[in-house]
Amino acid sequence: MPITSLVIKKLYPIVKLLLARVEKSEKNSKLQNLTALSFLELTNAIVECGLPKFRAKQIWSWVWRHGVTDFQDMNNIAKPVRAELAKHFVITRPGISRRQQSSDGTLKWLIRLGDGQEAETVYIPEKDRGTLCISSQVGCTLTCSFCHTGTQRLVRNLSVDEICGQLLLAMDELGDWPSGNSSRRLTNVVLMGMGEPLFNYDNVAQAIKIIMSGDGVAISKRRITLSTSGIVPGIARCGEELGINLAISLHAVTDTLRNDLVPINKKYNLKTLIDSVRNYPGLSNARRVTWEYVMLDGVNDSPEDAKALIKLISGIPSKINLIPFNPWPGSQYNTSRPDKIERFADIVLKAGYPSPVRTPRGSDILAACGQLKSESVRLRAPERA
Ligand code: SAH
Ligand code: SF4
Repeated sequence: MPITSLVIKKLYPIVKLLLARVEKSEKNSKLQNLTALSFLELTNAIVECGLPKFRAKQIWSWVWRHGVTDFQDMNNIAKPVRAELAKHFVITRPGISRRQQSSDGTLKWLIRLGDGQEAETVYIPEKDRGTLCISSQVGCTLTCSFCHTGTQRLVRNLSVDEICGQLLLAMDELGDWPSGNSSRRLTNVVLMGMGEPLFNYDNVAQAIKIIMSGDGVAISKRRITLSTSGIVPGIARCGEELGINLAISLHAVTDTLRNDLVPINKKYNLKTLIDSVRNYPGLSNARRVTWEYVMLDGVNDSPEDAKALIKLISGIPSKINLIPFNPWPGSQYNTSRPDKIERFADIVLKAGYPSPVRTPRGSDILAACGQLKSESVRLRAPERA
């Protein structure tokens, strides 16, 4: 057989497979992903397809309680109806480009989005719970000087299904279906991954409402925390519309230093920020706001800083998370010495505020706070060269 025929014969099945994949993904991209829809939107969408309203409850339960991704598995729905649903909808999750496990049990998934972009999701197991850290954007438009995510060039908001998809994907991987079972491994959610969640408020809010839904994954608002660099108008909306826990990335106690570390402070200064937190609905000693404070050697870690911090948040039910700075390639800061962190924690604790020092989790796989995305950037570096 001539060599060209041989090559064609060998390549034909591969090309056919690739074409089939492209065709399938093109077809899927035209169909609506059910994981982007609220219950009301789902109901409207199926009524538009000529199906009765009551089907919405069944479908919702299959998607959000049982984690089903194929209409054929919805066995309380007649076969012709399943086929009809498959003509209009899909149930998809983001792909996984890479999964890593840290020596401390932390899991990190580099997820692949429909347009080829990537984001990261981290699962942190603890003794009595398991927390999923979700990204809200690819990269971040803000440029906090100690954060690696802020150096990303490419930025876009994640869609509702991309945000919910991170949770669905983690539940698949952790074997957490059906949702709500007493041995669930994923019990808490924090919006502390890549991006500023309050700059993607609408999608984040819709995703959180879906995640909280009692007929679905049912993670209560007390187990969901949103972390923000201080987007004041978004803080009020988050409190009124979602009622979830709030974490503020404070990191400095004077405007001069905070302008430098968290530049959005130039728009919403410390006074405006603290006032908005003071008015956050539902704060009590049982439900405190978390102030995140990254410990930067010689920058913000003196006893005077600790005393000024206490004064600043006085009267607000608070807990302070002291985060030893997680270095990344090219960062300009060093981590505070352990004795300085202890001294700082002690002053804050004596003033009546719990001040846990956060042990970095998953730092061997660059999954700790502020390290997200660095690994994928490193991996892609040869492509950019
Ligand atoms: N954009 C949001 C949420 C994501 S950042 C925010 O800023 O709150 C999650 C937390 O990690 C924030 O408190 C952030 O300030 C902190 N962080 C960022 N870079 C860090 C680093 N290198 N070391 C330690 N914490 C960091
Ligand atoms: Fe963005 Fe938060 Fe990083 Fe600041 S700390 S650059 S807001 S992700």
